[in-house]
Amino acid sequence: MPLATDSLQAIIREELADLLVIRHDLHAHPELAYQEKRTSGVVQDQLAKAGVELRAGLAGGTGVLGHLPGRDEHAIGLRADMDALPIHEATDIEYRSRHDGVMHACGHDGHTTILIGAARVLARLAESDGLPRPVTFVFQPAEEGGAGAEKMIQDGCLDGGVLGPPINEMFGLHGWPRIGLGKVGSRPGPMLAAADSFDITITGVGSHAAWPQVGHDPVVAGAAVVNALQTIASRNVSTLESVVVSVTRFQAGSAYNIIPDQATMAGTVRTLMPDVQDQVEKRIDEIATGVAKAYGCRATVDYVRGYPSTVNDIEKVEVFRSVAQEAFGAEQVVDIEQPVMGGEDFAYYAQKVPACFFVLGLIPQGAEAVPDLHQPLFDFNDDAIEQGIEMFCRLALR
Ligand SMILES: [Zn+2]
Ligand SMILES: [Zn+2]
Repeated sequence: MPLATDSLQAIIREELADLLVIRHDLHAHPELAYQEKRTSGVVQDQLAKAGVELRAGLAGGTGVLGHLPGRDEHAIGLRADMDALPIHEATDIEYRSRHDGVMHACGHDGHTTILIGAARVLARLAESDGLPRPVTFVFQPAEEGGAGAEKMIQDGCLDGGVLGPPINEMFGLHGWPRIGLGKVGSRPGPMLAAADSFDITITGVGSHAAWPQVGHDPVVAGAAVVNALQTIASRNVSTLESVVVSVTRFQAGSAYNIIPDQATMAGTVRTLMPDVQDQVEKRIDEIATGVAKAYGCRATVDYVRGYPSTVNDIEKVEVFRSVAQEAFGAEQVVDIEQPVMGGEDFAYYAQKVPACFFVLGLIPQGAEAVPDLHQPLFDFNDDAIEQGIEMFCRLALR
């Protein structure tokens, strides 16, 4: 039976003051990817104190899994990321970073606190009435470029290999300084982009610049490759799909009168759909090697995949929407119309189980804007913590 709104909110409010102390403590002691030892310790203490069974030492040492059993077989996973960024904090708040050059500029201190809060509240409810479904709390390291989510999965956080049954669905959130406090939002399908990078090396035969006929010029071949790469977006990928292929570096040569023997270039690829990503990777290789060959040169392509695109499950987004509308009113639930071209390693969970990543509004009432993510003045809004916890709890209790 779903819990009355009032009683859930009352329990959250009882925990809130203490949770804000935890948030400020985490903010003051930020730790970079895979170094979240202290943060991991705080999470472990909090879970243990709340009576939540836990396993630590995951994903290189700092990842933590907490678990509460439930009546149903269908288990839900709730995720928080714990790492900070190599940015020097510019705020003058009392709990600003004590670690020079490191700060919680992406609000992962807020995410960690929200998940600790959800664990504490759900543990209390589990004690009195039991929970409708098993809940696994996933505290992961290294979201900022380190793919901590992928390591958590490799260590068995989703498949029941560590603690609790296999997870059937995942939910994660991000504080969002683009929408107002009290609002939550998501979108079905691609929510965040995949960001890949590539390096191309073109090897020809160098010569005197006055006798180009005795060599094979990699600069001319490279220029043709750059031009031909533009046809991936215009001629290969459907006009209805999103793709960016940008060559951002082109280096060759050392003098006015020498044709070099090598040219190198590099760039980035942004896509929203996995099949488009596959297609772009394949076409870059075909174009670079084929065009270079036509000019008597040889190309090698090194394509490196970054985070995959975060693709939300349509059904889980519906679950998110109906739960949020019931809790906060339809006007507080925003449809995120355009996918965000930034990346998120929540994508790895969404590849394995149906998942929904949603955003939590941070702009206070009356303010037009707040500092953006990854800016030195960013601070997670304490007033959003309660709604984040309520959202996670309601998803688990539905
Ligand atoms: Zn970030
Ligand atoms: Zn983040």
